[in-house]
Amino acid sequence: MKFGGTSMGSADRMRVAGEIIAREAKARPVAVVVSAMSKVTDTLLETLRHAEGGDRPGVEANLKKLEDRHVETARALLREASAAAARAEIITMIGEVDRIAKGVEMLGIRPPRSVDEAVAVGERLSALLMAAHLNDIGVSATAVNAREVIVTDAVFGNATPLLDATRVKAAERLKPALEAGTVPIVTGFNGATADGRPTTLGRGGSDFSASILAGALDAAELWIWTDVDGIMSADPRLVKDARVLDVITYREAAELAYNGAKVLHPRTLAPLMEHGIPVWSKNSFNVAAPGTRIVPHIEGALGAKAVTSMANVALVSIEPASAEINGTLIIGRAMAAIAQANVEVLTFLSSSYQQNFCFLVRKDELATALTALESALSLEFAHGYLGAPEVDEQVGLLAVVGEGMKGQTGLAGRVFTAISRAQINIIAIAQGASELTIGIVVRREGLELAVQAVHAECGMGTA
Ligand code: ADP
Ligand code: ASP
Ligand code: MG
Repeated sequence: MKFGGTSMGSADRMRVAGEIIAREAKARPVAVVVSAMSKVTDTLLETLRHAEGGDRPGVEANLKKLEDRHVETARALLREASAAAARAEIITMIGEVDRIAKGVEMLGIRPPRSVDEAVAVGERLSALLMAAHLNDIGVSATAVNAREVIVTDAVFGNATPLLDATRVKAAERLKPALEAGTVPIVTGFNGATADGRPTTLGRGGSDFSASILAGALDAAELWIWTDVDGIMSADPRLVKDARVLDVITYREAAELAYNGAKVLHPRTLAPLMEHGIPVWSKNSFNVAAPGTRIVPHIEGALGAKAVTSMANVALVSIEPASAEINGTLIIGRAMAAIAQANVEVLTFLSSSYQQNFCFLVRKDELATALTALESALSLEFAHGYLGAPEVDEQVGLLAVVGEGMKGQTGLAGRVFTAISRAQINIIAIAQGASELTIGIVVRREGLELAVQAVHAECGMGTA
């Protein structure tokens, strides 16, 4: 089971999570992954930005805020003796962040590795509190730092797990506890390289931590507890009549997450596919609701299921300016450079005789993408074989997802018509042969309206 930031957001929320864990742990062995309390990761990241800027008072104010919140939660949640013990550990862990912040202040830069070590403290604090609480209520539990379990590559801030090595560590570190009837409370979000350097799995990465461990432990099921009733036909903050989906496939869930549905980290499904471990997305604020089941296959799925969007994206276009160059080769080299720089290409399009191409990246990866392109294709740019990359930051991505869209004649047409009817300009369209997802790039200011229009047109909602 994994509990997200809001499900760990206060002593009351932790009590509810504790009840869920206690109940399920009676029936079968349970391993738990926890996120940091809501907003804590943001505060930790901000603390290091203060440190980088030499703002000591800013650092101290944030650390004080973090200490107060966790000590206060410990006091409200735990028995007196446990609260006192937890308080000492909270102070030690926050001291670690302060030590890292001082290093950052001295250097005037934030080395990604140090950032990863510091932000992981958020999850360590919540794991500490949850384990102490469970022990207080008579459920044997132990806090585990995922740094000792999840082995990753060295891409700090967005590491990829090494699953075989993780399986060995999970067997060593978690199985004995599970066999002894103790619930391991593992920190979400973080891991370490094989030689022990701390890493994190990207924002929202605790979902991924949980699926990595579910795979490594051959779990029967993975339950992801969050703050909505399951995976919905659209982001409920954008679409009022968004509906909870009873069941979706791994591929649908992965596409939704990848195209911006924050409810799951995009890489969550991958470690589960090999063993077909089912996932439930459930609401810790509404335990009675059944939630969404994510399964390998569904028979006879029909139509489009859900629509998602991503706002903070940029479209990069490159146009060959000379007939002497091989456009396909340029595309290959451009994409290789982008991949080397660890930038994710969200959508890629190439058409036309001139072999111009464009692709979509997250805004926070745009500068890295452009640097990578410029160094890989510097000669072509310098000699004018390629025009300078054009960047459009006033765009948004909308994606319509559903396995049942395959072969449904007219669906794409209806989607485009609905968007045009709302007076929104479509900039680019991408649909692969799998027909699982239609990706549509629109002008940024029309994105929300386009999502609502598509949701209504495809009859996805409750209304
Ligand atoms: P957690 O902290 O539990 O990981 P997140 O905030 O990361 O929770 O994800 C849950 C949020 O995702 C919901 O509160 C909702 O606003 C948002 N969300 C976006 N798209 C969807 C969707 N299609 N279905 C459900 N929730 C969605
Ligand atoms: N705490 C981390 C974040 O906010 C990981 C997570 O909550 O999934 O990104
Ligand atoms: Mg999340």
